[in-house]
Amino acid sequence: MSKDDSYDVVIVGSGFAGANLALLLGSDGKRVLIIEAGDNFPSNREDFMENFFLNTFKSPSSPYSPDDNGLDPARTNAPRPTIQALVEKDNGVPDWDNPEKAYFTYTDGSLPFTSTYERVAGGTGNHWMGTCLRMSNADLKLKTNYGHGLDWPLDYDDLQYYYAQAEYQIGVSADVAEQEIVGTEFAPGYSYPMRGIPKSNWDQIAKDKVDGAPLTDEDYTIDATIVTATPAGRNSEPYQERRVCHGNTNCTPVCPIQAKYDPTVSLDQALATGNVDIIYKSVVDYITVDSAGKIDGVHYITYEDILVPASSGATGQGTATGPMYVLAAHAVENAKILLNSARISGKNIANTSDQVGRNLMDHPVYLAWGLLPSASPAYAYRGPISTSGIETLRDGPFRSKRAAWRIELGNAAWNWPVGDPYVSGLDYIYGTNNGGTNSGSAIYGNQDYVTTLNDILTRQFRIGFLVEQDAEASNRVQLSTTETDNLKIPRPLVTYGLSEYTMKGFEKARVAADEFMSRIGATDFTVTASAKDNPATFTYNKQTYNYSGAGHLCGTHVMGTSSSNSVVTSTQRSWDHDNLYVIGCGSMPSIGTENPTLTMTALTWLTAQEIANRL
Ligand SMILES: Cc1cc2nc3c(=O)[nH]c(=O)nc-3n(C[C@H](O)[C@H](O)[C@H](O)COP(=O)(O)OP(=O)(O)OC[C@H]3O[C@@H](n4cnc5c(N)ncnc54)[C@H](O)[C@@H]3O)c2cc1C
Ligand code: SF4
Repeated sequence: MSKDDSYDVVIVGSGFAGANLALLLGSDGKRVLIIEAGDNFPSNREDFMENFFLNTFKSPSSPYSPDDNGLDPARTNAPRPTIQALVEKDNGVPDWDNPEKAYFTYTDGSLPFTSTYERVAGGTGNHWMGTCLRMSNADLKLKTNYGHGLDWPLDYDDLQYYYAQAEYQIGVSADVAEQEIVGTEFAPGYSYPMRGIPKSNWDQIAKDKVDGAPLTDEDYTIDATIVTATPAGRNSEPYQERRVCHGNTNCTPVCPIQAKYDPTVSLDQALATGNVDIIYKSVVDYITVDSAGKIDGVHYITYEDILVPASSGATGQGTATGPMYVLAAHAVENAKILLNSARISGKNIANTSDQVGRNLMDHPVYLAWGLLPSASPAYAYRGPISTSGIETLRDGPFRSKRAAWRIELGNAAWNWPVGDPYVSGLDYIYGTNNGGTNSGSAIYGNQDYVTTLNDILTRQFRIGFLVEQDAEASNRVQLSTTETDNLKIPRPLVTYGLSEYTMKGFEKARVAADEFMSRIGATDFTVTASAKDNPATFTYNKQTYNYSGAGHLCGTHVMGTSSSNSVVTSTQRSWDHDNLYVIGCGSMPSIGTENPTLTMTALTWLTAQEIANRL
């Protein structure tokens, strides 16, 4: 290894979890090495923007390497799952489980896992959207309160202080009083670092029309539908030497001016402490354990070529050592490293519980979209991708019967469900009806084209229900025994399905979406594709549903109360190896309805405190 090798802590991964942990430990004078699988980020964000502009397939991954066009995972050095692989078709037939195109491999009968992540410095947070909701105590005690999934070994009160730390580091813009409406509790006198991001025009329309009785006739803790602004990791004021949000709706895949926080902010700060080193393009494939059960090394493989397909593979290898080790490679990759370590050593690695890789969760999303009346256009594409939601309907006794959801109001019109403005734009050139509004196969030119698109695009809106998924041991990540990447590391083998609890959540989401449409007087354009067009499809009570991924991978190394029911303790320390921490959303035993990264970052603070104390 070229760097000084006297490190206190070796961290695998430089995303939300890894970068923030490195910052906290580095600021405390601890010597930290980060081993990062991906490439360094460019000094100018214009490079990301240029990749995005030039990429013919627009997705959250488009700005980042490796290029997801024609991804061949077997010939890519640090591949990752992509949206493109999920929507890929071969002669009109979905090809999502073809291992020549998709990084994930699947067991027979599995549904597609529709969320993706990045393997680049700063991780998936480069293209997160920025939603920063706190979870509630009811979310943390799903099993005790409602008999589903798993409980956390922590209470909300245990997390409050760490939530505040995470909100200050990320720079969250929100209003305490508005969050109290939705039931979130704060320490006396608490205020967010910045005032809230203003509601968009569409948020205001929705609020005026939809606020009132609950959207379904069930037993909610808060007996009302109330649209509230969503706490966001983006600047409403200058903060941490970064600019104020300009509202151009590009947060996913990349904020061109870094008004939205991303983990490269913390990574830069960590490196600036002088105590943190990082090596890029270094993929950890396994960790080793000594005869006393202590982790004694992290093995990694280096490469140079980030292109697809790569013209070269491994260029070297190394082993990093130190008294403490932290896996922060995200849910699937953390599990993969542990499972591969066990495969190579033939020993039990962090898996006395047999829970490594299990309880994989996401927020499967129910999308609904429509057109507002001409008298009240939404005027989308102004403001961040989402600025408000409905949080009041996410808890209540109904949760013993069906999964909860929160509703996100989107400011990017039909971009997510349909691919607009591109798809409708092409419809009126070619006379097609892929977007759904051109049933008469019209072809327009000049002023007629402009007038028609102006009318449609300004009236578009979409909502998304983030449906809670309960932890199920059968939803899991294993190692493929046949497929590897270009460095010959086994790829993930995924088994994924939706429980009846979660499917019932979809059933009620559909009822609530219909009521929402009716209250705002919209024309509903929601379409459900059949399984032959969209593999992310299931049928429940004779009704077919499509689900989308939220990017919220949780639960592959859950925390719990003992080594028999969980992989890590409440501080994310391995039950089996005293000097190993496995951190990130994978530690979360339940996902609630809230986007998980703020909670995960709060946990990182808790873990950092323990590691610093022990060192
Ligand atoms: C489109 C999208 C939008 C999202 N929006 C939101 C949102 O609004 N709010 C929210 O709460 N969450 C959001 N998320 C989720 C959020 O991005 C993740 O929860 C978060 O980034 C996870 O952080 P992490 O550090 O655990 O993992 P990552 O950010 O994925 O970082 C893992 C790091 O480990 C590295 N790595 C991986 N494998 C190895 C290896 N073998 N060796 C060395 N290094 C390795 C990776 O390169 C990466 O740098 C979104 C996700 C997506 C996909
Ligand atoms: S709306 Fe634009 S400026 Fe604001 S956070 Fe999103 S991408 Fe950045």
